[in-house]
Amino acid sequence: MYDLAIIGGGPAGVAAGVYAARKRLKTLFIAEMIGGQSTDSQDIQNWIGTPHISGMDLAKALEKHLREYADGPGDVDVDLKIGERATKVEKTEGAFSIATNKTTYLAKTVLVAAGGSRKKLEVKGAAEFEHKGVTYCASCDGPIFAEQDVVVIGGGNAGFETAAQLLAYCKSVTLIHRQEEFLRADAATVNAVLAHPKMKVIKNAEPVEIKGAQFVSSIVVKDKVSGVLSEVPTVAVFVEIGMVSNTDFVKELVALDEWGRVKIDGKSQRASIEGIWAAGDCSDGLYHQNNIAAGDAVKALEDIYYFLKAGK
Ligand SMILES: Cc1cc2nc3c(=O)[nH]c(=O)nc-3n(C[C@H](O)[C@H](O)[C@H](O)COP(=O)(O)OP(=O)(O)OC[C@H]3O[C@@H](n4cnc5c(N)ncnc54)[C@H](O)[C@@H]3O)c2cc1C
Repeated sequence: MYDLAIIGGGPAGVAAGVYAARKRLKTLFIAEMIGGQSTDSQDIQNWIGTPHISGMDLAKALEKHLREYADGPGDVDVDLKIGERATKVEKTEGAFSIATNKTTYLAKTVLVAAGGSRKKLEVKGAAEFEHKGVTYCASCDGPIFAEQDVVVIGGGNAGFETAAQLLAYCKSVTLIHRQEEFLRADAATVNAVLAHPKMKVIKNAEPVEIKGAQFVSSIVVKDKVSGVLSEVPTVAVFVEIGMVSNTDFVKELVALDEWGRVKIDGKSQRASIEGIWAAGDCSDGLYHQNNIAAGDAVKALEDIYYFLKAGK
C-alpha cells in the first residue's frame, strides 16, 4: 500500500514526485513519459530561472531532478513506473486501486497530474493520412516538409507557434482559422507571424476533407460564410485545434467540468471526493502554464501530507 500515487510525468507530476520524496511519503509515480506537452516545443519560455529551453531539454532536466530523489541515497521512496499508463482509479475500502496497462496498485491518496493531449481532427481522410502528412507535432515532423507548401489548422497560440516554426524552412504556410478574429492567440505573436512574407491565412473556414493517394496532396476547406468549397494543395497538415484532458481514468470517480478537467478547490487542489487531488492542465484552474502546473502540484503535496498525517 502506497501513501500516494502520482499519475502524470509533466511539470505537475514531477514537482509532486520531488516534494513527495522530500516528505518521505511512500510514493508510486506512474507516467507514460516524462516532460509532458512541452516536449512538442523547441522553445519553452519562462520556466522560471530559464528564459528559453527546448521541450526535450526541459524533460531531461525534470527527469534528472526526479531521479535525484527517487534513485538517490537514503531512505527516500518514490517508485518510478515510467512507460506505464493508468487506466482506471477506483475507491476500495480505505484506499484507491489504480489499474494500469500492466498491473493494479493500491494507494491511500491519488494526485491526478495527467495533463492534456492534442484534440484529433475528425474529418474525412484525417485518420487515414495520420503520419502520411497529417501530423500533430511540428517540431517532430516539420523538417520533413522543408521547402514545401504546408497547412496549419487552428488560430490559437499553438497554431501560430507551429506556423512560426514552419516558416523557418517551408516554402509557404497557410493557416486555416474558423473565425474572423484570432481571439485565442497573443496579439504580438499573431502580428509577427502574419507579417512574414511566406505566411497565408484562410479565415472563417473549416476543413472538410484531407485528400491524397499514398500521402497528403490537398485539403478541402469550406467557407463558413458562403458555403463554397475550395481545395488547397499541400503536402502536410499540422493540426492545432486544442487539447483534451487525460482524465478518462477518473471520470467515474470525481466531478469533471465540461472540458473533462477535474474540478478542484483552488486553495488545496482537492477534487470532489476525499483522497483525490488534481494539479496542472488536467485541473479546472483558470490558467495553465508549466510554472502553474508545478506550483499547483507543490500546493497539492502540502495538503496531501497534511491529510495523511493529520487525517483531514
Ligand atoms: C506546443 C506547446 C508550447 C508550450 N509552451 C509553453 C511555454 O513556453 N511556457 C509555458 O509555461 N507553458 C507552455 N506550454 C504549456 C505547458 O506545456 C503546459 O501547461 C504544461 O505542460 C502542463 O503540465 P502538466 O504537468 O499539467 O501536464 P502535461 O505536460 O500534459 O503532462 C502530463 C503527463 O501525464 C502523462 N499521462 C497522461 N495520461 C496518463 C495516464 N493515463 N497514465 C500515466 N501517465 C499519463 C503524459 O505522458 C505526460 O507526461 C506549451 C504547451 C504546448 C502544447
